[in-house]
Amino acid sequence: MSFETLGLIQPLLDAVREAGYSAPTPIQAQAIPAVLSGGDLLAGAQTGTGKTAGFTLPLLHQLAQKLGPNPPARRPVRALILTPTRELAAQVEESVRIYSKYLPIKSMVIFGGVGMNPQIDALRRGVDVLVATPGRLLDHHQQGTVDLSQVEYFVLDEADRMLDMGFIHDIRRVLAIVPPKKQSLLFSATFSDEIKALAERLLNKPQIIEVARRNATADTIAQRVFPVDRDRKKDLLTHLIKTHDWHQVLVFTRMKHGANRLAEFLNKQDITAMAIHGNKSQSARTRALSEFKSGELQVLVATDIAARGIDIDQLPHVVNYELPNVPEDYVHRIGRTGRAGAEGEAISLVCIDEEGFLADIEKMIKRSLPRETIAGFEPDPHAKPEPIQIGRRVLHGGLSGRQGSGRSSNGSANGSGNAPHDGQGGRRNSSHHNPAGKKPAGGAHPRRRQGAGSNSKPRAARP
Ligand code: AMP
Repeated sequence: MSFETLGLIQPLLDAVREAGYSAPTPIQAQAIPAVLSGGDLLAGAQTGTGKTAGFTLPLLHQLAQKLGPNPPARRPVRALILTPTRELAAQVEESVRIYSKYLPIKSMVIFGGVGMNPQIDALRRGVDVLVATPGRLLDHHQQGTVDLSQVEYFVLDEADRMLDMGFIHDIRRVLAIVPPKKQSLLFSATFSDEIKALAERLLNKPQIIEVARRNATADTIAQRVFPVDRDRKKDLLTHLIKTHDWHQVLVFTRMKHGANRLAEFLNKQDITAMAIHGNKSQSARTRALSEFKSGELQVLVATDIAARGIDIDQLPHVVNYELPNVPEDYVHRIGRTGRAGAEGEAISLVCIDEEGFLADIEKMIKRSLPRETIAGFEPDPHAKPEPIQIGRRVLHGGLSGRQGSGRSSNGSANGSGNAPHDGQGGRRNSSHHNPAGKKPAGGAHPRRRQGAGSNSKPRAARP
């Protein structure tokens, strides 16, 4: 299939050719005709599949046809794209710019952490496509500096992440502001019950499309587990980086303060490192990212949310300094390495507290990961697992704490994550084939989050 056969207008085809794309990706081949047909869309696709062009190209096509070749100078926002993070918002808007380069279409991005006034000025000058994070968009709405009354196209990008980050109320507020009659597109990597509920509320008889998850555990990625005691992880990481002279190492921690502490520690060991997470200013994040990409910065320490949507991949080394309690996050993390045939290595430093998380991950990826003990860092065979604190939640990620009926510290039954697995990450099981939403027969209900004991969600700060 070619982009030409999808019926896109010539200025878009020219821009796509210049971007170097020879053929649409599977999500594009499905999403572009679906959006061009004018109906709503529920799409299951994650970063790396080409989803951004999947919704941007048909939106621009329709907008260009509406606006004609010489639109008036000041025009209301007609397309609104919401994203969970600043980085993703910036990237999506950059894509809009690239694809609309031969069209008289104006786009802009708004997110928090930077001054309001330049955004207000730009909004006043007229914008066709607005890409925004929810919090700052609502700030502008409250101040009367953005008019959303003419929105005809509405996109929720990475909707599952938005919900994970606690944006459901903000999304509802935005939905109450935009006109009810519009074309809505919802993109999500997963179809949880909450996504289905949101889809039911937002979408009108949507077409449902889903592309296979990126096979991030492809053979090009060497995955290894280094068992180590919890308080020796930072020394082991230092040892690995120094003895192998690793550069461009992306290191994942669970929490922001853990990312900061680790970056500080590495710097003291003469390893250049920076932490990147939602509490950092936009300029600090941008600087960290560009220095990392250029190779000046040896190590970038990131939380899952901060790393999401950032355009850094094909890295030689990804290190799980702490295993994620959500198995899907493991797949997202290691997908940063070894893509497109490039060689990559994903290493997990696993202490006894996390053996249960590892078991969840191995079930999901349907393979067991090789363990290698590094001389001088052998774990204490008598060590006992300790609970892991994530925000206000206390998770039991160790294997022994999860046997039996398993309760997390906030008292929920089976909170330790040893619910029956389907080998697919559980909650995608039934929804995979039934994304619009009926509960599967027999009462089985996909778990909301398959990780150990993660039965409540922290509300993150606005990005
Ligand atoms: P996305 O999933 O939208 O974040 O896109 C992932 C990457 O794929 C981006 O770097 C795009 O520039 C690239 N991309 C998107 N569409 C295509 C295509 N049809 N052919 C090759 N690369 C693409």
